[in-house]
Amino acid sequence: MAKKKNKKQGKNWKKFWKLGVDEFNTQFFDINKDSNLTVIEGYHIYNLHGLAHKYGTPLQVVFPAIIEDRLKDLIGYFQAYVKIYGYKGKFFYHYPMKVNQNKEFILPLLSEGANLEVTSSNELWLVKKLWEGEKFNSKIRVFCNGPKTDQYLDLIEELRTKGMNIVPIMEEQEEIERLFKYKGDIGVRVDLAIKADTHWDKKFDRFGLSERDALSLTKMKNLKILHYHLGSQIKTQKSILDGIKHAFSIYVQMQKIHPNLDTLDIGGGFGIPYEKKKFYTAKAVSSKIIKILKNLSDKAGIKHPNLAIEWGQYIVAPAQVTIYKIISKKYIDKANAKAWYVIDGSFMNDLKDTWAIHQKWHVIPVNNMNNPFKRVWLAGSTCDSDDKYTAGGDYILLPKLNGGDQFIAVLDTGAYQDGLASHHCLLSLPAKIIAQDGEIKIARKHETAESIGKLFGWTNGDHK
Ligand SMILES: *Cc1c(COP(=O)(O)O)cnc(C)c1O
Repeated sequence: MAKKKNKKQGKNWKKFWKLGVDEFNTQFFDINKDSNLTVIEGYHIYNLHGLAHKYGTPLQVVFPAIIEDRLKDLIGYFQAYVKIYGYKGKFFYHYPMKVNQNKEFILPLLSEGANLEVTSSNELWLVKKLWEGEKFNSKIRVFCNGPKTDQYLDLIEELRTKGMNIVPIMEEQEEIERLFKYKGDIGVRVDLAIKADTHWDKKFDRFGLSERDALSLTKMKNLKILHYHLGSQIKTQKSILDGIKHAFSIYVQMQKIHPNLDTLDIGGGFGIPYEKKKFYTAKAVSSKIIKILKNLSDKAGIKHPNLAIEWGQYIVAPAQVTIYKIISKKYIDKANAKAWYVIDGSFMNDLKDTWAIHQKWHVIPVNNMNNPFKRVWLAGSTCDSDDKYTAGGDYILLPKLNGGDQFIAVLDTGAYQDGLASHHCLLSLPAKIIAQDGEIKIARKHETAESIGKLFGWTNGDHK
Protein backbone atom coordinates (compact mmCIF):
# COMPACT_ATOMS: atom_id res chain seq x y z
CA MET A 1 0.00 0.00 0.00
CA ALA A 2 2.79 2.39 0.81
CA LYS A 3 4.22 1.64 -2.58
CA LYS A 4 1.09 2.61 -4.45
CA LYS A 5 0.71 5.83 -2.53
CA ASN A 6 4.30 6.60 -3.33
CA LYS A 7 3.45 7.03 -6.97
CA LYS A 8 0.78 9.59 -6.28
CA GLN A 9 1.68 13.24 -6.68
CA GLY A 10 1.29 15.54 -3.71
CA LYS A 11 1.88 12.86 -1.14
CA ASN A 12 2.24 14.26 2.36
CA TRP A 13 5.87 13.33 2.92
CA LYS A 14 6.09 15.11 6.21
CA LYS A 15 3.35 12.89 7.52
CA PHE A 16 4.84 9.83 5.86
CA TRP A 17 8.17 10.27 7.71
CA LYS A 18 6.23 11.10 10.92
CA LEU A 19 7.64 14.60 11.23
CA GLY A 20 5.98 17.62 12.81
CA VAL A 21 4.20 15.53 15.45
CA ASP A 22 4.38 16.62 19.11
CA GLU A 23 3.70 13.17 20.55
CA PHE A 24 6.61 11.77 18.56
CA ASN A 25 8.94 14.63 19.55
CA THR A 26 9.33 15.48 15.86
CA GLN A 27 7.57 18.85 16.01
CA PHE A 28 10.86 20.61 15.20
CA PHE A 29 11.43 18.65 11.97
CA ASP A 30 10.25 19.63 8.50
CA ILE A 31 10.99 19.05 4.81
CA ASN A 32 11.99 21.93 2.54
CA LYS A 33 11.13 22.46 -1.12
CA ASP A 34 14.27 20.61 -2.22
CA SER A 35 13.04 17.62 -0.17
CA ASN A 36 15.80 17.97 2.39
CA LEU A 37 15.31 17.42 6.10
CA THR A 38 15.25 20.61 8.17
CA VAL A 39 15.07 21.47 11.86
CA ILE A 40 13.31 24.60 13.04
CA GLU A 41 14.29 26.70 16.04
CA GLY A 42 11.99 29.72 16.29
CA TYR A 43 12.72 31.65 13.08
CA HIS A 44 15.96 29.77 12.43
CA ILE A 45 16.00 26.86 10.01
CA TYR A 46 18.82 24.35 9.82
CA ASN A 47 19.15 22.37 6.60
CA LEU A 48 20.59 19.04 7.66
CA HIS A 49 21.62 18.15 4.13
CA GLY A 50 23.68 21.33 3.89
CA LEU A 51 25.25 20.65 7.29
CA ALA A 52 26.12 17.06 6.35
CA HIS A 53 27.87 18.34 3.22
CA LYS A 54 29.68 21.13 4.94
CA TYR A 55 30.87 19.34 8.08
CA GLY A 56 31.17 15.81 6.73
CA THR A 57 29.76 12.57 8.11
CA PRO A 58 29.36 10.75 10.41
CA LEU A 59 27.95 13.80 12.17
CA GLN A 60 26.02 14.42 15.35
CA VAL A 61 23.91 17.57 15.41
CA VAL A 62 22.85 18.84 18.83
CA PHE A 63 19.98 21.28 19.37
CA PRO A 64 20.23 22.92 22.81
CA ALA A 65 16.92 24.71 22.17
CA ILE A 66 15.15 21.34 22.14
CA ILE A 67 16.66 20.45 25.52
CA GLU A 68 15.52 23.76 26.99
CA ASP A 69 12.08 23.44 25.48
CA ARG A 70 11.54 19.96 26.86
CA LEU A 71 12.69 20.75 30.36
CA LYS A 72 10.69 23.96 30.50
CA ASP A 73 7.56 22.06 29.44
CA LEU A 74 8.14 19.25 31.93
CA ILE A 75 8.70 21.55 34.90
CA GLY A 76 5.67 23.53 33.72
CA TYR A 77 3.42 20.44 33.78
CA PHE A 78 4.39 19.49 37.32
CA GLN A 79 4.10 23.02 38.64
CA ALA A 80 0.70 23.39 37.02
CA TYR A 81 -0.65 20.16 38.54
CA VAL A 82 0.82 20.96 41.95
CA LYS A 83 -1.29 24.13 41.82
CA ILE A 84 -4.40 22.54 40.34
CA TYR A 85 -4.54 19.73 42.92
CA GLY A 86 -3.43 21.91 45.84
CA TYR A 87 -0.37 19.75 46.41
CA LYS A 88 1.77 21.01 49.28
CA GLY A 89 5.07 19.26 48.46
CA LYS A 90 7.71 20.85 46.25
CA PHE A 91 8.81 19.57 42.84
CA PHE A 92 12.48 19.09 41.90
CA TYR A 93 13.98 18.03 38.60
CA HIS A 94 17.41 16.37 38.82
CA TYR A 95 19.24 15.68 35.56
CA PRO A 96 21.04 12.31 35.66
CA MET A 97 24.43 13.22 34.20
CA LYS A 98 25.24 9.74 32.94
CA VAL A 99 22.61 10.11 30.21
CA ASN A 100 24.77 12.67 28.41
CA GLN A 101 27.67 14.48 30.07
CA ASN A 102 28.49 16.79 27.16
CA LYS A 103 28.77 20.43 28.10
CA GLU A 104 26.29 21.37 25.35
CA PHE A 105 23.70 19.29 27.15
CA ILE A 106 24.45 20.22 30.74
CA LEU A 107 24.59 24.01 30.35
CA PRO A 108 21.12 24.46 28.77
CA LEU A 109 19.65 22.19 31.46
CA LEU A 110 21.20 24.28 34.21
CA SER A 111 19.86 27.43 32.62
CA GLU A 112 16.36 25.96 32.82
CA GLY A 113 16.74 25.17 36.51
CA ALA A 114 17.82 21.53 36.59
CA ASN A 115 19.41 20.10 39.70
CA LEU A 116 21.83 17.21 39.11
CA GLU A 117 22.27 13.53 39.83
CA VAL A 118 25.70 11.94 39.40
CA THR A 119 26.81 8.32 39.44
CA SER A 120 30.56 8.52 39.74
CA SER A 121 33.41 10.46 41.19
CA ASN A 122 34.45 11.66 37.73
CA GLU A 123 31.00 13.05 36.97
CA LEU A 124 31.06 14.81 40.32
CA TRP A 125 34.47 16.25 39.46
CA LEU A 126 32.86 17.98 36.45
CA VAL A 127 30.23 19.41 38.77
CA LYS A 128 33.01 20.66 41.01
CA LYS A 129 34.61 22.43 38.04
CA LEU A 130 31.29 24.11 37.18
CA TRP A 131 30.88 25.09 40.81
CA GLU A 132 34.35 26.56 40.99
CA GLY A 133 33.78 28.43 37.73
CA GLU A 134 30.61 29.87 39.29
CA LYS A 135 28.71 28.43 36.38
CA PHE A 136 25.61 27.80 38.41
CA ASN A 137 23.39 29.01 41.14
CA SER A 138 24.76 27.87 44.47
CA LYS A 139 21.28 26.68 45.48
CA ILE A 140 21.58 23.73 43.12
CA ARG A 141 21.26 20.31 44.76
CA VAL A 142 23.32 17.31 43.69
CA PHE A 143 22.34 13.68 44.37
CA CYS A 144 25.19 11.17 44.42
CA ASN A 145 24.33 7.64 43.36
CA GLY A 146 26.59 4.77 42.40
CA PRO A 147 29.21 2.85 44.34
CA LYS A 148 31.03 5.15 46.76
CA THR A 149 34.77 4.71 46.30
CA ASP A 150 37.06 6.50 48.76
CA GLN A 151 37.81 9.10 46.10
CA TYR A 152 34.08 9.67 45.53
CA LEU A 153 33.33 9.99 49.26
CA ASP A 154 36.23 12.42 49.72
CA LEU A 155 34.93 14.61 46.92
CA ILE A 156 31.40 14.55 48.37
CA GLU A 157 32.77 15.59 51.76
CA GLU A 158 34.92 18.31 50.18
CA LEU A 159 32.00 19.83 48.28
CA ARG A 160 29.72 19.66 51.30
CA THR A 161 32.28 21.53 53.42
CA LYS A 162 32.52 24.15 50.69
CA GLY A 163 28.76 24.71 51.00
CA MET A 164 27.26 22.67 48.18
CA ASN A 165 23.87 21.08 48.79
CA ILE A 166 25.11 17.59 48.05
CA VAL A 167 23.23 14.45 49.05
CA PRO A 168 24.85 11.01 48.99
CA ILE A 169 22.33 8.27 48.28
CA MET A 170 23.20 5.10 50.19
CA GLU A 171 22.85 1.84 48.37
CA GLU A 172 24.21 -0.76 50.75
CA GLN A 173 24.90 -1.49 54.40
CA GLU A 174 28.59 -0.74 54.16
CA GLU A 175 27.96 2.71 52.73
CA ILE A 176 25.58 3.43 55.57
CA GLU A 177 28.28 2.61 58.08
CA ARG A 178 30.80 4.77 56.27
CA LEU A 179 28.38 7.67 55.95
CA PHE A 180 27.24 7.40 59.55
CA LYS A 181 29.08 10.56 60.57
CA TYR A 182 28.16 12.53 57.44
CA LYS A 183 26.89 15.94 58.51
CA GLY A 184 24.63 16.82 55.56
CA ASP A 185 21.39 15.37 54.23
CA ILE A 186 21.44 11.79 53.04
CA GLY A 187 19.17 9.54 51.02
CA VAL A 188 18.51 5.81 50.77
CA ARG A 189 17.95 3.84 47.61
CA VAL A 190 15.48 1.00 47.85
CA ASP A 191 15.23 -1.91 45.47
CA LEU A 192 11.43 -2.06 45.12
CA ALA A 193 10.01 -5.56 45.16
CA ILE A 194 7.75 -5.04 42.16
CA LYS A 195 7.90 -5.77 38.47
CA ALA A 196 8.26 -2.94 35.97
CA ASP A 197 7.81 -3.19 32.24
CA THR A 198 11.39 -2.45 31.10
CA HIS A 199 14.41 -4.21 29.64
CA TRP A 200 16.16 -3.69 33.00
CA ASP A 201 13.61 -5.37 35.22
CA LYS A 202 15.95 -8.09 36.35
CA LYS A 203 15.06 -10.64 38.96
CA PHE A 204 18.01 -9.57 41.07
CA ASP A 205 18.77 -5.87 41.24
CA ARG A 206 22.20 -5.14 42.65
CA PHE A 207 21.37 -1.53 43.43
CA GLY A 208 19.76 -0.37 46.60
CA LEU A 209 18.75 -1.88 49.92
CA SER A 210 16.07 -4.52 49.99
CA GLU A 211 12.78 -3.25 51.35
CA ARG A 212 13.36 -5.26 54.52
CA ASP A 213 16.80 -3.77 55.12
CA ALA A 214 15.56 -0.26 54.38
CA LEU A 215 12.71 -0.67 56.83
CA SER A 216 15.00 -1.92 59.59
CA LEU A 217 17.45 1.01 59.45
CA THR A 218 17.91 2.65 62.83
CA LYS A 219 16.74 6.23 63.24
CA MET A 220 18.72 8.78 61.24
CA LYS A 221 17.93 12.43 61.72
CA ASN A 222 19.56 13.46 58.46
CA LEU A 223 17.75 10.95 56.27
CA LYS A 224 15.72 13.15 53.93
CA ILE A 225 15.28 11.24 50.71
CA LEU A 226 13.81 7.91 49.73
CA HIS A 227 14.97 7.01 46.23
CA TYR A 228 14.27 4.22 43.78
CA HIS A 229 14.97 3.68 40.09
CA LEU A 230 13.13 1.01 38.13
CA GLY A 231 15.18 1.08 34.93
CA SER A 232 15.11 3.03 31.68
CA GLN A 233 12.57 3.27 28.86
CA ILE A 234 9.66 2.00 30.96
CA LYS A 235 7.11 0.75 28.48
CA THR A 236 3.84 1.59 30.17
CA GLN A 237 2.35 4.39 32.20
CA LYS A 238 0.99 1.75 34.57
CA SER A 239 4.49 0.61 35.54
CA ILE A 240 5.52 4.16 36.39
CA LEU A 241 2.44 4.72 38.54
CA ASP A 242 2.63 1.29 40.22
CA GLY A 243 6.20 2.12 41.22
CA ILE A 244 5.06 5.33 42.88
CA LYS A 245 2.21 3.66 44.77
CA HIS A 246 4.47 0.91 46.02
CA ALA A 247 7.28 3.29 47.00
CA PHE A 248 4.81 5.46 48.84
CA SER A 249 3.89 2.58 51.14
CA ILE A 250 7.58 2.21 52.07
CA TYR A 251 7.91 5.97 52.47
CA VAL A 252 5.08 6.09 55.00
CA GLN A 253 6.61 3.33 57.12
CA MET A 254 10.09 4.84 56.99
CA GLN A 255 8.87 8.28 57.92
CA LYS A 256 7.70 6.89 61.27
CA ILE A 257 11.32 5.99 62.05
CA HIS A 258 13.16 8.88 60.37
CA PRO A 259 11.30 12.07 61.30
CA ASN A 260 12.95 14.31 58.69
CA LEU A 261 12.28 12.13 55.67
CA ASP A 262 10.39 14.50 53.38
CA THR A 263 11.26 13.68 49.75
CA LEU A 264 10.35 10.85 47.42
CA ASP A 265 12.78 10.57 44.48
CA ILE A 266 11.23 8.37 41.81
CA GLY A 267 14.39 8.13 39.66
CA GLY A 268 14.40 7.93 35.88
CA GLY A 269 12.80 5.67 33.32
CA PHE A 270 10.29 7.81 31.44
CA GLY A 271 10.36 6.51 27.88
CA ILE A 272 10.66 7.96 24.39
CA PRO A 273 8.54 6.91 21.37
CA TYR A 274 11.63 5.87 19.39
CA GLU A 275 9.46 3.94 16.95
CA LYS A 276 7.01 6.79 16.45
CA LYS A 277 4.05 4.78 17.63
CA LYS A 278 1.48 5.75 20.23
CA PHE A 279 3.08 6.25 23.63
CA TYR A 280 2.18 7.68 27.04
CA THR A 281 2.80 11.41 27.52
CA ALA A 282 4.55 13.47 30.20
CA LYS A 283 1.56 15.78 30.50
CA ALA A 284 -0.84 12.98 31.40
CA VAL A 285 1.61 11.10 33.63
CA SER A 286 2.65 14.18 35.62
CA SER A 287 -1.00 14.88 36.37
CA LYS A 288 -1.55 11.32 37.58
CA ILE A 289 1.60 11.32 39.73
CA ILE A 290 0.59 14.44 41.64
CA LYS A 291 -2.97 13.24 42.03
CA ILE A 292 -1.88 9.83 43.33
CA LEU A 293 0.63 11.29 45.80
CA LYS A 294 -1.92 13.75 47.08
CA ASN A 295 -4.62 11.14 47.59
CA LEU A 296 -2.29 8.64 49.21
CA SER A 297 -0.77 11.14 51.64
CA ASP A 298 -4.14 12.58 52.58
CA LYS A 299 -5.40 9.07 53.26
CA ALA A 300 -2.30 8.22 55.33
CA GLY A 301 -2.57 11.56 57.14
CA ILE A 302 0.98 12.66 56.34
CA LYS A 303 2.45 15.80 54.81
CA HIS A 304 2.62 15.68 51.01
CA PRO A 305 6.16 14.57 50.18
CA ASN A 306 8.44 16.68 48.04
CA LEU A 307 8.82 14.98 44.70
CA ALA A 308 12.12 14.57 42.84
CA ILE A 309 12.34 13.07 39.36
CA GLU A 310 15.40 12.06 37.35
CA TRP A 311 13.97 11.52 33.85
CA GLY A 312 17.05 11.81 31.69
CA GLN A 313 16.45 10.05 28.42
CA TYR A 314 13.05 11.72 28.12
CA ILE A 315 14.59 15.19 28.19
CA VAL A 316 17.69 14.75 26.04
CA ALA A 317 17.21 11.93 23.51
CA PRO A 318 15.27 14.06 20.97
CA ALA A 319 17.88 16.86 21.10
CA GLN A 320 20.41 15.10 18.86
CA VAL A 321 20.36 13.45 15.44
CA THR A 322 23.18 11.38 13.96
CA ILE A 323 23.78 11.65 10.21
CA TYR A 324 25.53 9.09 8.01
CA LYS A 325 26.25 8.82 4.32
CA ILE A 326 25.44 5.66 2.41
CA ILE A 327 28.71 4.47 0.92
CA SER A 328 27.65 1.30 -0.83
CA LYS A 329 24.83 -1.10 -1.53
CA LYS A 330 24.64 -4.87 -1.63
CA TYR A 331 21.66 -6.98 -2.72
CA ILE A 332 20.07 -9.45 -0.33
CA ASP A 333 18.29 -12.55 -1.49
CA LYS A 334 15.01 -13.70 0.09
CA ALA A 335 14.72 -11.44 3.12
CA ASN A 336 12.40 -8.73 4.40
CA ALA A 337 14.83 -6.22 2.97
CA LYS A 338 16.05 -6.05 -0.61
CA ALA A 339 19.50 -4.58 0.01
CA TRP A 340 22.11 -3.64 2.56
CA TYR A 341 23.01 0.02 2.66
CA VAL A 342 26.46 0.46 4.20
CA ILE A 343 26.94 3.65 6.23
CA ASP A 344 30.17 5.58 6.76
CA GLY A 345 30.03 5.05 10.53
CA SER A 346 29.12 2.29 12.92
CA PHE A 347 26.05 1.22 14.86
CA MET A 348 28.26 -0.79 17.13
CA ASN A 349 30.54 2.15 17.95
CA ASP A 350 28.40 5.28 17.68
CA LEU A 351 24.95 3.94 18.54
CA LYS A 352 25.94 1.18 20.90
CA ASP A 353 22.42 0.44 22.14
CA THR A 354 21.63 -0.95 18.68
CA TRP A 355 23.91 -3.82 19.56
CA ALA A 356 23.58 -3.85 23.36
CA ILE A 357 19.81 -3.79 23.84
CA HIS A 358 18.47 -4.04 20.27
CA GLN A 359 17.35 -0.45 20.36
CA LYS A 360 14.89 0.55 17.63
CA TRP A 361 15.49 3.90 15.92
CA HIS A 362 13.54 6.19 13.64
CA VAL A 363 15.75 6.32 10.54
CA ILE A 364 14.82 8.78 7.79
CA PRO A 365 16.47 10.25 4.68
CA VAL A 366 18.21 13.61 4.95
CA ASN A 367 17.83 14.31 1.23
CA ASN A 368 15.64 12.88 -1.57
CA MET A 369 12.84 12.66 0.97
CA ASN A 370 10.19 12.32 -1.71
CA ASN A 371 12.01 9.89 -3.97
CA PRO A 372 10.78 6.35 -4.53
CA PHE A 373 12.06 4.19 -1.71
CA LYS A 374 12.99 0.61 -1.06
CA ARG A 375 13.20 -1.77 1.87
CA VAL A 376 16.73 -1.97 3.22
CA TRP A 377 18.85 -3.07 6.13
CA LEU A 378 21.73 -0.94 7.32
CA ALA A 379 25.30 -2.08 7.90
CA GLY A 380 28.08 -0.26 9.75
CA SER A 381 31.63 0.17 8.51
CA THR A 382 33.39 -2.05 11.03
CA CYS A 383 34.37 -5.55 9.99
CA ASP A 384 31.91 -6.95 12.53
CA SER A 385 28.84 -8.83 11.35
CA ASP A 386 26.97 -7.58 14.43
CA ASP A 387 27.43 -4.02 13.22
CA LYS A 388 24.02 -3.64 11.60
CA TYR A 389 20.54 -2.28 12.04
CA THR A 390 17.60 -4.24 10.67
CA ALA A 391 14.79 -2.73 12.78
CA GLY A 392 14.53 -6.07 14.56
CA GLY A 393 14.61 -8.20 11.40
CA ASP A 394 11.95 -6.06 9.76
CA TYR A 395 13.14 -3.40 7.29
CA ILE A 396 13.84 0.32 6.96
CA LEU A 397 12.36 2.40 4.13
CA LEU A 398 14.94 4.62 2.44
CA PRO A 399 15.22 6.25 -0.99
CA LYS A 400 16.52 4.23 -3.92
CA LEU A 401 20.06 5.32 -4.65
CA ASN A 402 20.23 7.49 -7.76
CA GLY A 403 23.94 8.02 -8.21
CA GLY A 404 24.15 11.16 -6.07
CA ASP A 405 24.99 11.36 -2.37
CA GLN A 406 22.44 9.87 0.00
CA PHE A 407 22.47 10.85 3.66
CA ILE A 408 20.33 9.38 6.41
CA ALA A 409 19.44 10.64 9.87
CA VAL A 410 18.92 8.58 13.00
CA LEU A 411 16.64 10.55 15.33
CA ASP A 412 16.64 10.67 19.15
CA THR A 413 20.33 9.80 19.63
CA GLY A 414 20.94 12.28 22.47
CA ALA A 415 20.71 9.78 25.35
CA TYR A 416 23.47 7.38 26.43
CA GLN A 417 25.11 6.75 23.03
CA ASP A 418 28.00 9.17 23.54
CA GLY A 419 29.10 7.74 26.87
CA LEU A 420 28.90 4.21 25.49
CA ALA A 421 30.72 4.95 22.22
CA SER A 422 33.83 2.97 21.32
CA HIS A 423 36.54 2.49 18.68
CA HIS A 424 36.03 -1.00 17.29
CA CYS A 425 38.23 -1.35 14.16
CA LEU A 426 39.61 2.07 15.17
CA LEU A 427 36.85 3.92 13.33
CA SER A 428 36.51 7.61 14.15
CA LEU A 429 33.66 8.80 16.32
CA PRO A 430 31.17 11.10 14.57
CA ALA A 431 32.03 14.79 14.58
CA LYS A 432 29.68 16.85 16.74
CA ILE A 433 28.22 20.25 15.91
CA ILE A 434 25.93 22.45 17.97
CA ALA A 435 23.08 24.27 16.22
CA GLN A 436 21.94 27.18 18.34
CA ASP A 437 20.55 30.68 17.65
CA GLY A 438 20.97 30.11 13.93
CA GLU A 439 24.70 29.43 14.25
CA ILE A 440 26.85 26.31 14.12
CA LYS A 441 29.67 25.56 16.53
CA ILE A 442 31.99 22.59 16.25
CA ALA A 443 32.12 20.68 19.53
CA ARG A 444 34.14 17.69 18.33
CA LYS A 445 36.12 17.41 15.12
CA HIS A 446 36.40 14.21 13.11
CA GLU A 447 39.00 12.11 14.87
CA THR A 448 42.21 11.53 12.97
CA ALA A 449 44.06 8.21 12.78
CA GLU A 450 46.75 9.79 14.91
CA SER A 451 44.43 10.93 17.70
CA ILE A 452 42.82 7.49 17.87
CA GLY A 453 46.22 5.81 17.78
CA LYS A 454 47.18 7.81 20.86
CA LEU A 455 44.28 6.31 22.80
CA PHE A 456 45.90 2.95 22.18
CA GLY A 457 49.36 3.99 23.26
CA TRP A 458 50.80 4.89 19.85
CA THR A 459 52.51 8.14 20.52
CA ASN A 460 54.67 10.02 18.05
CA GLY A 461 57.71 8.15 16.92
CA ASP A 462 56.69 4.68 18.12
CA HIS A 463 55.92 3.46 14.64
CA LYS A 464 59.11 4.77 13.09
C1 LIG B 1 20.15 5.96 34.70
C2 LIG B 1 19.48 6.61 35.83
C3 LIG B 1 18.54 7.62 35.62
C4 LIG B 1 18.08 8.06 34.24
O1 LIG B 1 17.26 7.13 33.65
P1 LIG B 1 16.44 7.51 32.32
O2 LIG B 1 15.91 6.23 31.87
O3 LIG B 1 17.43 8.10 31.37
O4 LIG B 1 15.40 8.48 32.69
C5 LIG B 1 18.00 8.24 36.73
N1 LIG B 1 18.34 7.86 37.98
C6 LIG B 1 19.23 6.88 38.22
C7 LIG B 1 19.55 6.52 39.60
C8 LIG B 1 19.82 6.22 37.16
O5 LIG B 1 20.67 5.23 37.40
